[in-house]
Amino acid sequence: MDIKALKNNFQKRGFKVSVFENVPDAVDYFNNEIHNTTVGFGGSMTLKEIGLFDVLNKHNEIWWHGKGGQLKEYGGAAIMQNAMNTEIYVTSANAISEQGQIINIDGRGNRLASTLYGHKKVYFVVGKNKVAENFEKALWRARNIAAPKNAQRLGMKTPCAVKGDKCYDCSSPDRICRGFLTLELPPMGTEVEVVIINEDLGY
Ligand code: SF4
Repeated sequence: MDIKALKNNFQKRGFKVSVFENVPDAVDYFNNEIHNTTVGFGGSMTLKEIGLFDVLNKHNEIWWHGKGGQLKEYGGAAIMQNAMNTEIYVTSANAISEQGQIINIDGRGNRLASTLYGHKKVYFVVGKNKVAENFEKALWRARNIAAPKNAQRLGMKTPCAVKGDKCYDCSSPDRICRGFLTLELPPMGTEVEVVIINEDLGY
């Protein structure tokens, strides 16, 4: 992966890009960037792995249905609704292409909606394992790597969750792949920053 070219391709499309060698440097960056504001987190193993909630929660109001204590206190629906109404939104991507496209798949749609509209700024936190050579490979990755592993993690009764190996394009009631979104450019009126970390993170 040519990080310089990747960064350049995202910048040409109007995305802001930050690149970090490791998680602590990226977390420090967020800690300095996001202060005294409201923040919604999307469902993301990457965010969980880097421990961003606990760091930012010390000086921001954060809504995340992935945080056990908060989930118990408020319930998922209320948290997701509050996360929709924050100034900042932070999530990951199922895949990004080297040409600068961001792909996500969603079951409920809260994450896709928030990356399109309603926030002053959206951050995507992306490990190097999410980078694919082109759009087709990025879409393949989102469908055949990220989605099955998420279905498995969520305990869904889908064929992909048995082995977490590939997408079977199922018609299961538990199907988590209900919406596919590709961001080609930042939506008008929203600043979007892609934070790339040179480590494998999430699925
Ligand atoms: S469409 Fe169905 S089989 Fe394919 S990844 Fe999504 S939930 Fe799994």
